[in-house]
Amino acid sequence: MAEENKNIRTGGISVDTEHIFPIIKKWLYSEKDIFLREIVSNASDAVTKLRRLESLGIRESGDEKYSITVRLDADAGTLTVSDNGIGMSEEEVDKYICSIALSGAVDFIQKYESESTEGSKNGIIGHFGLGFYSSFMVSDSVEIETKSYTDAPAVHWVCSESGEYELSVGSRTEHGTDIIMHISESESEYLVKSKIRKILEKYCLFMPVDIYFEDADDEKKDEEPTPINETSPLWQKNASDCTDEEYKQFYSKVFNDYREPLFHIHINADYPLNFKGILYFPKLANEYETIEGQVKLYYNQVFVADNIKEVIPEYLLMLKGVLDCPELPLNVSRSYLQTNTYVSKLSAHIVKKVADKLCSLCNNERESYESIWQDIAPFIEYASMRDRKFYDRVKGALLVTLTDGSKMTFEEYLESAKELHENKVYYCTDKALQAQYIAMFESEGIKVVTFERPIDVQFASVAEQYMEGVKFCRVDADVADMLKSDDDATELDSLKSLYSEILGENASIEFSSLKDESVPAILTVSEESRRMEEMMRMYNAGAEYPIEYKLTLNTASPLVKKLDGMIESDHDKAKRVASYVYKLALLSQKKFSAEEMQEFMREGVALMLEL
Ligand code: ADP
Repeated sequence: MAEENKNIRTGGISVDTEHIFPIIKKWLYSEKDIFLREIVSNASDAVTKLRRLESLGIRESGDEKYSITVRLDADAGTLTVSDNGIGMSEEEVDKYICSIALSGAVDFIQKYESESTEGSKNGIIGHFGLGFYSSFMVSDSVEIETKSYTDAPAVHWVCSESGEYELSVGSRTEHGTDIIMHISESESEYLVKSKIRKILEKYCLFMPVDIYFEDADDEKKDEEPTPINETSPLWQKNASDCTDEEYKQFYSKVFNDYREPLFHIHINADYPLNFKGILYFPKLANEYETIEGQVKLYYNQVFVADNIKEVIPEYLLMLKGVLDCPELPLNVSRSYLQTNTYVSKLSAHIVKKVADKLCSLCNNERESYESIWQDIAPFIEYASMRDRKFYDRVKGALLVTLTDGSKMTFEEYLESAKELHENKVYYCTDKALQAQYIAMFESEGIKVVTFERPIDVQFASVAEQYMEGVKFCRVDADVADMLKSDDDATELDSLKSLYSEILGENASIEFSSLKDESVPAILTVSEESRRMEEMMRMYNAGAEYPIEYKLTLNTASPLVKKLDGMIESDHDKAKRVASYVYKLALLSQKKFSAEEMQEFMREGVALMLEL
């Protein structure tokens, strides 16, 4: 004991700012839980360094099992993180622990890793040399018991929260380090087992060294301990070495989502971006489910933050996944990310990878791509609307669904339409309501695309700007030329004046000879007028925009011919028939209200009584 006391040295932590300790305690990290991440990261670094020395041949490699143990002793009021890594000599404790500004990580990298990027490649976590002191955010005092892997004697260091330390001969006999944190009374939550487990699972789940969690109160000592973490997460592997099953398991484990994701993208970006990750396109249960995804950011397998919005463009935020970016600092701030050019390059790379994946699915796995299209379409369309570059990349993989449920790419649709209706995309928004128009187009061999969601129509108007010369036309927007027969339509003046008594101001009348004689009249609303009305409705609820209707009377229809002949002999009946014909046409345009429907039926019955 007397021997040991001789070795005691005392001193003050050498820092420029006198009162740094209270500052650390209060301000070092906004989230206190992070202290454990920092201490365990240091332990992981200590092991990584030793492994590195082995691989460089500087130290003989044995069959030693490296690990980290986090031990909670609530009775003693301590939380201890132990590793069997590189350890520290007295000189190193002096240099790296007693003077705050020096980082042993930087020193190590400079000494042993000559190439500039090697450090991060070898997964040494340490970054800026304050991490260890975050333990003081929750502790009254912190002890270090450490022994270097060299012959240097073990060291014991203890430091109070005022920053006064004591250095003496330590008790460790094997290389490695114990960081013993004497948790402050006010921070007693860090002596609760569930709390510590939660923090470890959040930040340390994929750290590269086995981490064991022990609780001094636990009786079940005979059980084989299992590490809380997975040391080789899937994203670190090559995509070609991972199975579909592994991707799915990884997804459900990390995101607690029992539904299978629609597809995944494994990114392994080399220098200069130098990041790895797996992104998943989740399956959403319904349109009302929150579409906010979750991208977890890691730094050399250490969790940094959830949902870093700055890294993923807003229109791809439904993605879930993990990104490991050793180029970003372990302690990132929002403002840093927003202005960082690396981050914008990273984000652009992710966008490109997502687009490439969609194209490759469309080209190489068409069947399964078609089966997920319904789920992904709104997102891809939205992303295309928001980012022209994204659209340009994915345009070959944009699908349309036809009325029979089959799918084509836009390009295939336009190619197939070349002869009949060059550069026009005919679409419907309600298969039942617009059935008559659809049937007329389809009988002419024209394929009709179904738009089921409001975003499809919005996308169409943006796509028109992107695809030069292409026009989108709802089936009820115009009586396309090809539906007309070659016969000339004659204007029937008396019929025209009869209809002027029936129709309101917003309707015009036209005569046409249609190929389909069974249709007496069709009502159309021009594409522009309808889109304008839809827009007004969306942005200015309440304000009515007068829609312009056009009633096309089919001069080839026997009913129209009969009606024309009736005007002179029975004007009143002709007017009622004309009104009924108009309502029949109107029925394909809009849903009747209850009153309109009742009146329509009454009029039908009255007419039939006159047969
Ligand atoms: P950083 O890890 O960012 O360099 P820290 O303040 O966390 O900064 O640690 C300072 C230095 O102390 C480390 O770089 C390392 O050299 C040394 N150190 C800390 N913890 C350990 C440990 N468990 N084993 C060996 N050395 C350690």
